[in-house]
Amino acid sequence: MFPAAILAASLVFTPADARLAHTTAGLIVANATPRDAGTRGAFSAANIILNAASAAGADTRIDTFSAPTPKGARYFTNVIAKFEKDPSRGWIVFVSHYDTKPGSGCPGANDGASTSGLLVAMCESLKRQEKILACNVMFIWTDGEECIERYSDVDGLWGARRAAQMLKDDRCDVKGVICLDMLGDRDLGVSIPRNTSSYLRKAALAVADATPLKGRVKTISEMIKDDHVPFAEAGFEAVTLIDFEYGSEKGLNDYWHTPEDTMDKISEKSLHEAGSLAMKFLDILPYVDKPSPKRKRKR
Ligand SMILES: [Zn+2]
Repeated sequence: MFPAAILAASLVFTPADARLAHTTAGLIVANATPRDAGTRGAFSAANIILNAASAAGADTRIDTFSAPTPKGARYFTNVIAKFEKDPSRGWIVFVSHYDTKPGSGCPGANDGASTSGLLVAMCESLKRQEKILACNVMFIWTDGEECIERYSDVDGLWGARRAAQMLKDDRCDVKGVICLDMLGDRDLGVSIPRNTSSYLRKAALAVADATPLKGRVKTISEMIKDDHVPFAEAGFEAVTLIDFEYGSEKGLNDYWHTPEDTMDKISEKSLHEAGSLAMKFLDILPYVDKPSPKRKRKR
């Protein structure tokens, strides 16, 4: 399904791109913390991302909307950037949330800022390499991935629900939605939970072999509630790539949603590895057919 020969074609994510990802994450943490879901801090972060992605040469816009929460209606802000090569080709969509966990005192250097910086750097990278891009690419930075109390239809994943509905309403031909979360961890390992598209899980494992992350990308039997869920529920092939072992020792996740999630825990090296992995999807997905709805198994 994912022939090795195709892996030879490549878009490059450079160490300089990784530096931009790291710098952007630092800007978000320094200037918009906390940026809890649907708050003014989140709106400030959205503006930092809008400016950074625009400066990187992407066609970027903001989407502000109101939604119910357990604390009453709030305004949320998604940021969307598009590289549209050819309307007849499909879209590959990358998603990162940028908000912090409400009330946790968590600066979200890894959980939110790292992959948000990464998407900005991918914009810069694609701008340079647009000529060899074989599909259309959309980047979506979501607000409100984190729930306030407990995940439900009115708590958490607000930005992703909004974006999934937007893609559906636009009848967007999407080859895959790839959510990136917590991938700046200086001790990077990538997990892919069970509640994801099997076609994209296989793609991720295939592309990982052609990157420095070879051997450090694994599928896990657990289900994880992340931004990919509303996209899957809307009928899209969706996956999340997440480092859910973010802690003081191997196997621990004790920095997650705590004040310990700080910039010194993430590295340019990990962002380079994560960016290289993400870019590889753009080398192969344009050339493979996504599963037809009939063949699609229930998630
Ligand atoms: Zn989180």
